Amino acid sequence: MPDACPEAKRYERSGERRLNSVNPDNLYDDRDVHLPSSGWRCERLIPFPEGDGSCQACGKRPIRYLHELRHANYDKPIRLCTGCARKLEADPRAARWRVNDARDEAKMRAHWREQNWWISENQNWYLRIRGFGVTLYETRNGSWAFFIDHRQSSDTYDAWDEAMAAAFDAFWQRRMRDVEAQRARPKKANTKVMLPKPKGDRDWARLDREFAEMLGNDHA
Ligand SMILES: [Zn+2]
Repeated sequence: MPDACPEAKRYERSGERRLNSVNPDNLYDDRDVHLPSSGWRCERLIPFPEGDGSCQACGKRPIRYLHELRHANYDKPIRLCTGCARKLEADPRAARWRVNDARDEAKMRAHWREQNWWISENQNWYLRIRGFGVTLYETRNGSWAFFIDHRQSSDTYDAWDEAMAAAFDAFWQRRMRDVEAQRARPKKANTKVMLPKPKGDRDWARLDREFAEMLGNDHA
């Protein structure tokens, strides 16, 4: 067997990761191209990409969502499928969350007006959704504005449907901020253990004392 080429040795030393590829045109199948194995950050999600919407690592196509990842030590962004993005991002759950959030957003946006709005006598529009209160109202000069909970929109809108669309954006932004904060929180370890009750007539207190002696008196 011939010696490995210097490039391959360099690759081994650096611990960089190469993604497997089934696509013969794939840039990342080129042995001169090595991807850093960590430190990638997703810049945006591209839904339903047009043209050559294939994953640049595994070549999968057609693809519904491409994740555009960037790295400080790599000159171009790379576009990956969800499975390949999982392998490069620090949190392997991030790619799946991103896709699920995008789907959820598109669905809610499409049905925003058909939500369970309640219109008051004063023509205020109220909606309770995912723990948020949305209020759409007409201002004195005939424009429209809204509240998300107690936070007033910074702009007013000439048309009702503009305000409606802006209210969705504001609601979604608030919701995602909460969701992301929750995801960033470390998971509590489940330390509750159900212990069986001691049976029989053994002297449990004595055993406890002996155990404390075993550990050393500082634990007693
Ligand atoms: Zn892929």
